[in-house]
Amino acid sequence: MTSSPPRTHVDLAVIGAGPLGAATARHAAEAGARVVVIGPDEPADFADHEGVWAGHYDQGRLCHVLEVPLVTSLLATRSTRRFDDLIGRTGINFLTPTHSVTVMPEAASGVAASTWFDADVLAGNAADLGVAVDRLTPDELAAAYPQLSFEPGHLGLRQRDAFILNPRALVAAELRAAVAAGAELVRDEAVARELVDGQVRVRTARSGTWTADKVVVATGCATNATGLLDRPLQTLTFGATVTLVEVSGPDAVPDMPTMMMLKVRDGDYLFGGIVMAPVQYPDGRWYLKVSGNSLLANPLDTREEIAAWVRTGGRAEDVEETMAVLRDLLPGVELGPARTRPCTVCATPHDRPYIDWADERTVVVVEGERGAMAADEIGRLASGLALTGAWTDTLPAENFRALWAPEGWSTAAAIGRAS
Ligand SMILES: Cc1cc2nc3c(=O)[nH]c(=O)nc-3n(C[C@H](O)[C@H](O)[C@H](O)COP(=O)(O)OP(=O)(O)OC[C@H]3O[C@@H](n4cnc5c(N)ncnc54)[C@H](O)[C@@H]3O)c2cc1C
Repeated sequence: MTSSPPRTHVDLAVIGAGPLGAATARHAAEAGARVVVIGPDEPADFADHEGVWAGHYDQGRLCHVLEVPLVTSLLATRSTRRFDDLIGRTGINFLTPTHSVTVMPEAASGVAASTWFDADVLAGNAADLGVAVDRLTPDELAAAYPQLSFEPGHLGLRQRDAFILNPRALVAAELRAAVAAGAELVRDEAVARELVDGQVRVRTARSGTWTADKVVVATGCATNATGLLDRPLQTLTFGATVTLVEVSGPDAVPDMPTMMMLKVRDGDYLFGGIVMAPVQYPDGRWYLKVSGNSLLANPLDTREEIAAWVRTGGRAEDVEETMAVLRDLLPGVELGPARTRPCTVCATPHDRPYIDWADERTVVVVEGERGAMAADEIGRLASGLALTGAWTDTLPAENFRALWAPEGWSTAAAIGRAS
């Protein structure tokens, strides 16, 4: 392939226009930098998909402080404090108020659960951030949400002022603000990144080449599959499934909270994941959204594996598992047809985002599981690091160190699965 001459020189090129890349671009542009942000728009369909996918092609993500580790709750809190301003300036609303309730067994269950379901840790994090949460005994939980039927012996931890965040709309708002501040948005894929003559050169598939003083790589779960970095990151990447179950409308289940739920019966694990209050999708219909049991079941390492996963449309078995959870939880609610959608998710070994140098001109950002609620602050930190060349935040940079893997490293091998 012939390489076209650079179109423009910018201060910062951001590769990836998902939540993290869009937020990075907007903070950099609003700081006065010349910015190009390069990333494809969402594909219209997944049935014949080729290439990488994203974690944000959906209508609902939880935005709350009932999180681990504490630094994630803090990043989400810092992001949330700026949302009114972003929504006001762009005219794009991406928030719907909800109660966030984490539901979990009251007694230690013997089921290995992550700290996502440790009520003391979650309540402690909320207290550290000055956010009020209620601890509801099983009786109080049942009384608070009489239209729901919880597993006996399960308690709830509730944040009343949480949100369902629409990640597509968040990205639209961040990009609108970035462009309003002068950033150029290029709807294309970056295919090469190289250091040349004290600059970074970024070549795209169809739109030409840019040079930049610095680059931020914000390509989400695709990061190891793009070949844009010189070595692989330690990020486990998976094909996740979202199950959508149609309901009659927003009030099909009046005052339904959005739940992180761990469901255990007689010591047996039945479900762990998110059950979201009704959300409207682009087809105009309302759906309960559930994702959980199979979240980390499908390791993905290459571009081809990602595309093949996307074309499956998600794990079919999740439909029956979801219906079983919803029938127990919502007796008396008429549940319509269910379908799955594919999603990709990744995780870092220390459960904190990576915001770090890949080389002297390239910053990499990755937040696999909480990168909608925390994106705006991660983007601000990444932009600051890339533009100033130094870490200036009061949170120690060590929190966000990237962990690198030897050549040939793969998710499948790391979790002991033959690829
Ligand atoms: C089922 C599920 C539930 C989740 N629940 C929550 C939740 O409740 N709350 C929450 O905060 N988060 C949640 N997340 C996580 C959240 O969606 C992700 O953390 C977030 O999408 C990460 O943003 P990102 O910008 O890093 O990556 P992505 O959203 O994956 O975006 C990366 C972008 O980079 C682009 N890209 C890739 N390669 C290239 C290239 N070569 N050139 C240019 N562009 C490229 C992609 O096209 C994509 O648009 C959930 C994720 C899943 C899958």
